[in-house]
Amino acid sequence: MLKLIFSLLCITAIQSISFSQENNELKIFTQIKHEEYMRIAIDEAKKNESYPFGAVIVNIETGMIVAKGVNQSSKNPTLHGEIVCMNNYVEKYGNKNWRKLVLYTTGEPCSMCMSALIWAGIRGVVYASSINGIEASGIKQISISARQVKESSKFVDVFLLGGILQKETDVMFLNRKK
Ligand SMILES: [Zn+2]
Repeated sequence: MLKLIFSLLCITAIQSISFSQENNELKIFTQIKHEEYMRIAIDEAKKNESYPFGAVIVNIETGMIVAKGVNQSSKNPTLHGEIVCMNNYVEKYGNKNWRKLVLYTTGEPCSMCMSALIWAGIRGVVYASSINGIEASGIKQISISARQVKESSKFVDVFLLGGILQKETDVMFLNRKK
């Protein structure tokens, strides 16, 4: 009898694991997970007091953070947080496995960064503040949304989600060092 109960429990456990994996296929992570990763992107952003754009890349199979980056455009105009983070990933792991990766960033990717992420073939992009939220802090923005870039790139399907911890990052952008 005990054996039977144990087997039934095992079957239930296996079913719930496969269900959550299936769910992850659609949603990638839960809201709590998104917030957890975004907090680490915010910590990264705080390293640049004037342009607090921070990013992390997560491997969705392991849940591990595999790369980090913060805006370094004072050194080189192309070094937005997302690009620094992508470069950090490639340095460590090579230019591969992008379909297993999701990038978290404190600000909606500009058209340059969103295009670079799409060229890489990344699986997902999650951002906090929108282009409007960033503009409110006095940082100039090209008014092409990340969604517009995604929808203009039919050759790849990118999971795109905005607004994670947006209230916090909007305040961070507004209070940036000017
Ligand atoms: Zn950018």
